[in-house]
Amino acid sequence: MVVKCDPALEAIEAKLERGESLSQADGVALLRTPDLHTLGRLALAAKRRKSGDNVYYVLNRYINSTNVCYADCQFCSFSRSEKDADAVRMSGDDVFAKALETGSNFNQLHIVGGHDPRQLSLDYWLPLMRRFKDALPHVQLSLFTAAEIDYLARRHRLSYDVILGRLREAGLDNINGGGAEVFSERYRKIVCPKKVDGAHWLEIHEVAHRHGIASNATMLYGTVETLEERAEHFVLLRESQQRSPGYNAFIPLAFHPDGNALNDCGPTSGLDDLRMFATARLMLDNFDHIKAYWMIQGLKICQVALHFGADDMDGTHGSTDEERIYHSAGTDSGQYVDDREFRRLITASGFVPVRRNSTYDVFAADWKPEDGMPQRVAVAV
Ligand code: SF4
Repeated sequence: MVVKCDPALEAIEAKLERGESLSQADGVALLRTPDLHTLGRLALAAKRRKSGDNVYYVLNRYINSTNVCYADCQFCSFSRSEKDADAVRMSGDDVFAKALETGSNFNQLHIVGGHDPRQLSLDYWLPLMRRFKDALPHVQLSLFTAAEIDYLARRHRLSYDVILGRLREAGLDNINGGGAEVFSERYRKIVCPKKVDGAHWLEIHEVAHRHGIASNATMLYGTVETLEERAEHFVLLRESQQRSPGYNAFIPLAFHPDGNALNDCGPTSGLDDLRMFATARLMLDNFDHIKAYWMIQGLKICQVALHFGADDMDGTHGSTDEERIYHSAGTDSGQYVDDREFRRLITASGFVPVRRNSTYDVFAADWKPEDGMPQRVAVAV
């Protein structure tokens, strides 16, 4: 089959040249196009306008502190009842010890978990967060998703504003982007009816930004959503960023089918993955970063994604970390990528590796906590 130039992309390219934001219909055209070469060219040009040749990575630790959850999301292979033999519920001491298991040379602590009635409470988290901030002032706390914040607010009968204010005081730097799935009400009724709805997910992030808490955003694609719903999700995120700036990165999350009720949807294709990276880069013109998270799409697709608009490969994770959300669902990515390997992969793709933290402050590649305060270095874009 000869792939011809897609006329829909010519009109989109003209809009991009005029500096106009793309519409939902444009997003659908990008997600549907067979013309991957033009799509990649447009997305790479947009990436270069944002971040030049830089591609970011972070030395981080990743912990799933509990898999106990009763939200019953249909795509989830991770959650367990507290009576299940493989339920995992870490104590605060266990979480603290796990984070420091391989030393303190990292700049982000990323923790997410289930809606666990015993663990997901302010009594558990506020002292633990303060303990981390005292011991590791160079580490940014990237904790919870908006779905967890919503659970905390309902549990304590407090507003999002009060909950987020208290979390900020205890040291919360960043909210993770999960829980967004696809914002469409139709989709959420089928797939995750017990989870925070799209409007409240957006509200939580906007309130967080007003408290000085940064955040990321995601979309879980590849199940029962339509391309129109994917494109609408991008438009809603862009409008949210306009109302209350504070999103740093968007991360496309490919569905993995093992061990969950949506198994028949199957895995996403490499082409769908690349269309998602490129469409995200072109639709989200007010987001600085598009992340290709190696744990989700695998290192090789993520390397190619750098030519389809992505400018971030996420983090190393620690060599003793055990990510369970995607591994329960069948990802064959490993658990850990050495930072030298990140730099090699990024350089081999034709880009410049840049070490960052959650909020994209930049560090020299060889920075260590014993060097004193982080050495910020200028980055050419
Ligand atoms: S995706 Fe999150 S909220 Fe939904 S069932 Fe799994 S752990 Fe619970």
